[in-house]
Amino acid sequence: MDSPVSIVSYGKNAARANGLAKNRILQIEDLISVTKNGSDVFRLNSAESFPVKIHGETLQLFWFARDVYKKTSGALNPAIFPVVRAWGFTTGKYRVPSDEEISALLKKTDFSKVTLAGVTSAPVPFVASLSMQTGMMLDFGSLGKGFACDEAVRILKKSGITSALLDLGGNIYVLGKKIDGSDWKVGIKNPLGEGVALSLKVHDSAVVTSGCYERFFEEGGKRYGHIFDGKTGRPVENELASVTVVCESGLYADALSTALFVKGSAAAIEFWQAHKDFGLALIFKDGSKWLSPGLPLLSELSVER
Ligand code: ADP
Ligand code: MG
Repeated sequence: MDSPVSIVSYGKNAARANGLAKNRILQIEDLISVTKNGSDVFRLNSAESFPVKIHGETLQLFWFARDVYKKTSGALNPAIFPVVRAWGFTTGKYRVPSDEEISALLKKTDFSKVTLAGVTSAPVPFVASLSMQTGMMLDFGSLGKGFACDEAVRILKKSGITSALLDLGGNIYVLGKKIDGSDWKVGIKNPLGEGVALSLKVHDSAVVTSGCYERFFEEGGKRYGHIFDGKTGRPVENELASVTVVCESGLYADALSTALFVKGSAAAIEFWQAHKDFGLALIFKDGSKWLSPGLPLLSELSVER
């Protein structure tokens, strides 16, 4: 997943359960990685003809992503990859593409053009196949960690674990409560500087933050982050420094934190008001915050540059 992962579980089955959860995460990575030769996503992105067969997990992720894509009016767009790649975020060879290059690439980013071509009967393990236009590329980087997180939690629970803390590259999940019976304390980083901006007391929750304070490059005194606006083909530039989503599903939290960062604060708050099935913490570039009512706040610190 291109990021460190840690799982801390409590109870007598912990070591075995962690091993199983780790294997499941690696399995998912093998299916959805954009860079791993042979993954479903790699085969789709390099295909010369369609449809391309995919596994059940990839289908699940595709369906979920399509749902959030629609719900967020395209703010979450797993087909934005050709643009992300052109800016150098896959290789670290960063560059600012020309307007012409961006407009040409944007034509290849219509996620609604990715279609389920059929459900295959045999041979297992492929369960379905997807079609898209040549030149289109998918990337589940905005929600894959959330999916892997939920799968790891499912495996831990099945192995009898009732208390655990998972960290998948900053996507936090707390399973159950701490072994002393109290809630977990989860800190949200100050996106403008050092330390923690907020801390929450939570149990059985994902806490996922998106922002552009960790993965970005600078050119000509300007900062370009790794989350893109599918309408412009450019890194998101708005008043937000970070967006944190808290809910029971790691997948939903991961997908939404990215999408609401793209949407900006007004639309993010509107989305929260329309759904209210998650907790939301917005931290603005000027250091102010907007917290959804009911967010399980433990403490709030002032954030400064
Ligand atoms: P992180 O990987 O830092 O936890 P996110 O979950 O917010 O961050 O996902 C960001 C990644 O998703 C980017 O690195 C890029 O590959 C991809 N991406 C960028 N913009 C979008 C977008 N608008 N919709 C979907 N995926 C995106
Ligand atoms: Mg995300």
